[in-house]
Amino acid sequence: MNILAFGPNGSGKGTQGAIVKEKYGLDHIESGAIFREHIKGGTELGMKAKVFIDSGDLVPDEITIPMVLETLGNSKDKGWLLDGFPRSLAQAEALDKALDESGMALDYVLEINLDREIAKDRIMGRRLCANDNNHPNHIAFDAIKPVEKDGELVCRVCGGELSMRADDQDADAINKRHDIYYDDSTGTVAALNYFKNSGKSKVISVDGSKAIDVISEEIMAQLS
Ligand code: AMP
Repeated sequence: MNILAFGPNGSGKGTQGAIVKEKYGLDHIESGAIFREHIKGGTELGMKAKVFIDSGDLVPDEITIPMVLETLGNSKDKGWLLDGFPRSLAQAEALDKALDESGMALDYVLEINLDREIAKDRIMGRRLCANDNNHPNHIAFDAIKPVEKDGELVCRVCGGELSMRADDQDADAINKRHDIYYDDSTGTVAALNYFKNSGKSKVISVDGSKAIDVISEEIMAQLS
């Protein structure tokens, strides 16, 4: 099963992705997380990408597109949930072409809808687990609240160290990311519409303002 997940930063896309990945044994491919791993590892790609990420700009296509397509190819047998890519119409077209060429089907397009102001408020409360990107933590949601250990907040799943993303604490970077997402002419909403209109995949649309477990039940009910 191959799924493409769309939703603005702060919509809970990563949280739902982690739940779906677990249930269906898929690879959860997050373009942003791949970049963060490269930055952590001090690779050349990471160093090139960092300046764009810190300011909330898109990493150029000549770096991003081959990186994501290579990762997808490696998950061909297992199936994947792709999150964070495509973010533009140009990336959508590149992905569509690559899927056709490789014979991979896109079974589902998942869309998590959320008002921009609510998404913005949510971003600042999320925390990253140092051990596993699929351990969502958020200080404002009981279902995924970090736990306290020796006076520190740690990951609720594994007790790992938590950090905040620099681009999550910078209002300008958040605004830029949302400008890119909600742009329906060449941005991420345009990419979403490209796949919705292609008629090749089943579209699942959910309301991201609902509770985490309600949203995941709605998604599961439509995945078969
Ligand atoms: P995310 O973790 O999805 O919020 O992504 C963090 C940052 O990584 C973004 O703000 C971009 O700078 C970069 N990034 C992630 N995915 C892409 C993409 N598909 N195209 C270009 N840049 C990306």
